[in-house]
Amino acid sequence: MSQLVVVGDQSSGKSSVLEGITGFAFPRDAGLCTRYATQITCRREDQQSVIVSIIPHEDSDPDERVMIKEFHKTLDELTDASLANIFKQANETMGLRSSEDDEQTDGSARPTFSEHILKIEICGPNHFTVIDVPGIFRNTEGKDYILSHHYRDIELVRDMVKKYMKDPRTIILAIMPCNVDPATQEVLKLAKQFDPQMTRTMGVLTKPDLAIERAIQQIAINHVLGKRGDLTLGYYIVKNRGPDDVTMSLAEGQMKEKNFFSEDPWSTLRNTERAGIFALKLKVRELLIDLIKQEFPKLRAEVTKELVDLKTQLNKMGPSRSDPLSQRAYLSNMCENFQSITRDALSANYTGNNIFSDSDSLRLITRVVEANEAFSNQISWAGHTRSFTDSGKLHQEESESEEDPFGPQKTRSFSFASRQSLESEDLAEAVQFPELDSILQESSARRHIKHDDDIMEYIELVYNNSRGADLGTFSGSMLAAIFKEQTKNWESITLYHVSRSIILVHQFIVKVIEEVCPDAHVFDTLWNDHILEKLQQTYIRAIDKAKYLLSIEREHLPFTLNHYFNDNLQKLQGERLVSLMKNLGISDDTGAHLTWPQVGNLSANKGNPEHVREYIHDVLYSYYKVALKRFVDVVCQQAVFYYLLRGQESPLQIFKYELVNEFSDEELENIAGESASVKAQRAKLDRDIKDFEEAMRVLRGSK
Ligand code: GDP
Ligand code: MG
Repeated sequence: MSQLVVVGDQSSGKSSVLEGITGFAFPRDAGLCTRYATQITCRREDQQSVIVSIIPHEDSDPDERVMIKEFHKTLDELTDASLANIFKQANETMGLRSSEDDEQTDGSARPTFSEHILKIEICGPNHFTVIDVPGIFRNTEGKDYILSHHYRDIELVRDMVKKYMKDPRTIILAIMPCNVDPATQEVLKLAKQFDPQMTRTMGVLTKPDLAIERAIQQIAINHVLGKRGDLTLGYYIVKNRGPDDVTMSLAEGQMKEKNFFSEDPWSTLRNTERAGIFALKLKVRELLIDLIKQEFPKLRAEVTKELVDLKTQLNKMGPSRSDPLSQRAYLSNMCENFQSITRDALSANYTGNNIFSDSDSLRLITRVVEANEAFSNQISWAGHTRSFTDSGKLHQEESESEEDPFGPQKTRSFSFASRQSLESEDLAEAVQFPELDSILQESSARRHIKHDDDIMEYIELVYNNSRGADLGTFSGSMLAAIFKEQTKNWESITLYHVSRSIILVHQFIVKVIEEVCPDAHVFDTLWNDHILEKLQQTYIRAIDKAKYLLSIEREHLPFTLNHYFNDNLQKLQGERLVSLMKNLGISDDTGAHLTWPQVGNLSANKGNPEHVREYIHDVLYSYYKVALKRFVDVVCQQAVFYYLLRGQESPLQIFKYELVNEFSDEELENIAGESASVKAQRAKLDRDIKDFEEAMRVLRGSK
């Protein structure tokens, strides 16, 4: 939690200072300088052993991580030799050069520094963590040849050091030998970057025994006395064991240090409580405790947030599902959520649930209404095989659009874009759903049959070929044949529309079930074993319904009671009469004045084959308009709204309580029983929550 990091140049005495503070002695081997971060954790247990392990770097490759995690040594007897041995093994494991002699022969094949962390657990009086990092280098070439060889290493070490320094819970011990002026020290500049107020950086001067010159000694003393430097925490001074004190124990070294500071000129520091490793140790302990306290409010916030996160995760998993009762409840709850989202989606009530703003495709009723409109437009423009003649007037009266969808397309410029959008697109989304492959009908969707020849010629052809002994009239079956020919495109346009609606509904169902069922295993079993097949059946029923409606309209005798049929027919016939009179030259702009013979002439023109053909055309056209409107309505109302959305047996009704209710205990276990991994995950969440709650209690208790 709280920690201490020692930074400083190489050989400035970092490891020695740490030794003094923790009591843990590093092997005193000249060849072993610190090449990686070392984390020393002081545990409270009364255990005499030391545990050495390695924490692998996050970015290292998985194989290496496994190998590194295996490194785990317990030492019962602490001797320099056994420790040195372990460190050598650790170096090997991290793939480092084992000593500097290697360097020359091995070249640059093996790195000098590692980003792994050596972890040493010892028992100490306080629960805290100390971090020893490799020395930082100055950017000068020269004496340290490692520098010139491995520029990359400098960066690596700096990054490592910075990572520890920037944590506001870390105390930075800046280690500087006495024989250089701290004012010139790189390490202080670095510390200032991360601790601008210099409130958690402490200066530690080492090697006072090597500072012989009076002036240099005085500079060090002035720093310790607080006369120089700008550190809030000030400077401490320690004397560690030197390279010649190989055989001296830590305790002996500390005795010698005491003597050293009692002599001139260092004895002037006697009352500062800043000279010697004991003074430093006391101060560090005090600081760590302060730091922990400062961090409490922030820690509490972090723990609270973590607790909320964990509980949300656990909630999402739902209650534990080990028996049929809880499994059924779990699935029922899911159905309820599904049905509630579905209800909202069908009533365009999109404000209640966020998923509607996250995904447009879930706004189901809106998407389907759009599709219905597109269908209606498309069938108006492209549904008929041949254009009807002379139909402008009739159409104009009931539509604002300038062009008659049923007539010949005169004005080509008319809303080209909107016409294009009427072209049926591919059922592109269908690619995502191979399970719909055999159901969807898109084959001929793009190829609408259009004949450029005159509809009158066609009527003439059929009329001449099927003419019976009828006097001046025509049979219903002939009208049926022409109507069928005229509505060939209805089939592809309609089946395309129903297919598209199926995709919209299917997409919706997949997404919503995924939403209400976050557990992938439950989803898969439920979907594959209990839902998909039923869905497919409902889709097939919708398609069949559309086919049935098509056959009713197209395969049987035309029929309607709709009075618009007669209205239309009379309008068309009236038009013909007017144009006939215009042709006879017996009218002016305001109207016509007819003599009786002229009236007789008018009717004399009726009854000839040409007139019958015109009459057939007008009947066909009047009927076509009425039938088309009826057809569009029933397709939308029955095949789409009823069979796909609102009907009792629509696909949206499959995932509901009744389905879950019918599951046997065995089926429930198969679908909703918890796999070992889910159980483990749940147990871990439970444990984590308990741990954090415990941490919270501790934090609350110790303001
Ligand atoms: P690090 O590289 O910063 O970890 O430095 P070390 O703690 O490994 O010390 C480097 C060398 O300096 C070792 O040989 C130590 O014995 C020596 N050393 C450290 N502190 C002192 C000191 O106060 N006086 C003397 N004479 N030597 C010291
Ligand atoms: Mg060191």
